[in-house]
Amino acid sequence: MLFYSTNLKSPSISFREALLQGQAPDKGLYMPETIPQVSNELLQRLPEMSYPELACELMYPFMMEDISKETLAAITKDAYDFAVPLEQVYDRKYVMRLDQGPTASFKDFAARMMGRLINHFLQQNNQKLLILTATSGDTGSAIAHAFYGLDSIRVLVLFPEAEVTNRQRKQMTTLGKNIGVVALDGKFDDCQALVKQAFADTDLRHMNLSSANSINIGRLVPQMVYYFYAWSRLAKAGEKATFCVPSGNFGDMMGGMLAVQMGLPVHRFLIAVNDNDEFPKYLSSGDYLKIEPSRNCISSAMNVGHPSNLARLVALYGGNMDEKGIIHQQADLNRMNRELWSVSVDDRKTRDTIREAWEQHRLLLEPHGAVGWAGLHEYLGQYPENHAGELFVSLETAHPAKFPEEINRLLGFDPELPPSLMHLEDKPEIFEKIPTDYQGFKKFLTVNYRG
Ligand SMILES: *Cc1c(COP(=O)(O)O)cnc(C)c1O
Repeated sequence: MLFYSTNLKSPSISFREALLQGQAPDKGLYMPETIPQVSNELLQRLPEMSYPELACELMYPFMMEDISKETLAAITKDAYDFAVPLEQVYDRKYVMRLDQGPTASFKDFAARMMGRLINHFLQQNNQKLLILTATSGDTGSAIAHAFYGLDSIRVLVLFPEAEVTNRQRKQMTTLGKNIGVVALDGKFDDCQALVKQAFADTDLRHMNLSSANSINIGRLVPQMVYYFYAWSRLAKAGEKATFCVPSGNFGDMMGGMLAVQMGLPVHRFLIAVNDNDEFPKYLSSGDYLKIEPSRNCISSAMNVGHPSNLARLVALYGGNMDEKGIIHQQADLNRMNRELWSVSVDDRKTRDTIREAWEQHRLLLEPHGAVGWAGLHEYLGQYPENHAGELFVSLETAHPAKFPEEINRLLGFDPELPPSLMHLEDKPEIFEKIPTDYQGFKKFLTVNYRG
């Protein structure tokens, strides 16, 4: 099993190499050359398997040359020690809650696998890694928790002190062990700039720096599993499901597309975006225009004007798009439009949806999941054939308790905290403040992260 770069100018490499490398040298994204097929026999066995068992069985073909099935089984068992609730809302319309992990967002599913896989491969070669990551809030905590306590990896998270919420900061600074955290008196872009400069600095080569960025193949593969899981729990024999995915960088929906290519019975994928509507426009016109700067919406993790995983989607449909968003070969848009459907949902509609879902169904959504739920209903409205008997699953990607202000304003109460967010207030915080100049940062690195 080899992985090629979507820019087609780097050699194909193994899963292990692609995982440790992240982005391809030609700035493309790694994709599997062939997509493993799930047999009917396995599809029929899925309902009896636990989430970790299912994850191991489905991911193994992507990495079988690099890891034993026993090791992978141990890793999935350790990574997925939380529930994946499927909440029936009405008829056969469900919400899949991907918010029960340690940082209460769906990013835990991929980050926890990626951390454990990287740690395993490093240990095999007795290597160590220092992961530098700049965050505006959520990514930093997902990465910090995913790598927490792993022996071969140290993590340093940089965040802009004035731009993260108390809860976000505490999710990073109360960990300790191998997770270092520094606050900058600057903006997210300043944090990002320091990290980039450190990667380019040859003086720091010996430190074995790496990033855990969102386009790593190790974050994509685990995201196909929960689609199989939902189907295995809800579908009748051989029945096709329709999924609705609230999307920003398109990693989540690409996981779903991978599942379809592997043989998951799916009727259609619905992709709901916020005001950043470059994708629905592309789907209907074939013209791709990124949105710069991206538009600010309350579903803030989806404020993406040029989704980096789009190149992967275009590649799956026979086209070619580079990292800047330029299309060198058009994708098969007819097929794309048969298999995908996309809609933009603005903040007003998002807020109305949070209110209505609660009033009509006692369904508690936060802004990202509400974009998905609204998108599903736009689709049902546009195709008013009787959908009552069909299976629909909309994804909720974060826990409502991460957005207490918005929920309280709309519904008049504070969402209950999940166990992962409880007791954060009482835990001691450890972080240092550093200046925003590169020389100061470099000195901090060399003093604190020697050898
Ligand atoms: C990252 C994120 C998204 C968007 O997922 P993509 O894979 O980037 O499309 C949606 N909701 C939440 C809560 C997120 O953190």
